Amino acid sequence: MRASSVDQIIIETLSKEHAHLTSAQVYEKIRERLPAVNLSTVYRALERLVTSGSVSVSDMGTGSAVYEILADGRHHHLVCQKCGQVLTIEDNEVRELFSKIQENNHFHVLTNHLILFGICAACQKDS
Ligand SMILES: [Zn+2]
Ligand SMILES: [Zn+2]
Repeated sequence: MRASSVDQIIIETLSKEHAHLTSAQVYEKIRERLPAVNLSTVYRALERLVTSGSVSVSDMGTGSAVYEILADGRHHHLVCQKCGQVLTIEDNEVRELFSKIQENNHFHVLTNHLILFGICAACQKDS
């Protein structure tokens, strides 16, 4: 099995699912199409896709890194630490912050899927 075909099937699967999946979840989906594949092959393929910028990897507070396709533009998330709700925000909401950080620190930001933890509106009302 060629590495490139595993990469391709992972991209197709992540594009179709359009969700945040753990490496174990990606592995389960890939196995439906490639029964002979093993977890470490899938894991290495995911790492390659993250390095090449096709896939994002993030800690969303669930204990396992999650992967998502980066095909149609960037987005970021606000994760509520009380109820676990995940909100999606547009890239333009953080662009300015990133530019400022880049200018002030001469640091080229590569983060493409920012996760901010906090308390959502509904949970703020509850407390
Ligand atoms: Zn996302
Ligand atoms: Zn909440």
